[in-house]
Amino acid sequence: MSFRPNMFATTGRDSSAIADSISGSSASVGYSVSSGEVDLREEYDDFVYGPSRDLSDGHGKICLHRRAVRDASGKVQYCTCKIASPGSHADPDCNHCYGEGFLYEEEYAIGYWQYSGPSGGQSRKLQRLNPGLVRTDLMVFYFRYDQNLKYGDKIVEVELDLEGNVIAGPVRKAIHRIENIAEMRSDHGRLEFYTVYVRESESIRPDEFGVDQ
Ligand SMILES: [Zn+2]
Repeated sequence: MSFRPNMFATTGRDSSAIADSISGSSASVGYSVSSGEVDLREEYDDFVYGPSRDLSDGHGKICLHRRAVRDASGKVQYCTCKIASPGSHADPDCNHCYGEGFLYEEEYAIGYWQYSGPSGGQSRKLQRLNPGLVRTDLMVFYFRYDQNLKYGDKIVEVELDLEGNVIAGPVRKAIHRIENIAEMRSDHGRLEFYTVYVRESESIRPDEFGVDQ
């Protein structure tokens, strides 16, 4: 996938309002897709990639999908630092697994995310704040229906420049553990998009620990 400059330029649309409409659509998955009235995959692509589908007029941002490496039976694989350790402990200074002890493969992904507010849907059960306040340790990510997310994978926020382009490295700002993957499905069970909840307090921030990236 190639990315051109200013690909993330916004059009001045009210992104929070559109985000609300996306999160609100989770309650509207009963809409008929087959009738052609509402196609949530189309709605998702319109919002995240933009009508031209090249991100120039969409609201998507780039991140890394950090996939856990699994064997044929689906078992996650240990990092070489853990295998090499006499006591099979992961190396907390390992610049691959950051002490988690597992192997990952990373690929760039486009998604949309925001901090979870008072209308945070599934995460509402965790809220202890008064209405109007945003709980900053809960984030919700949205991904396309074909992102193939699994528990054990991570979502990595990377440093972006002022135009939304990835700063060389990439520099990993936060490695988020997935707390909940909600498959947003509509008629006939068709997967329309993913809603993924992460908890900031359980995320790894490599720069805080001076780990080489
Ligand atoms: Zn390791």
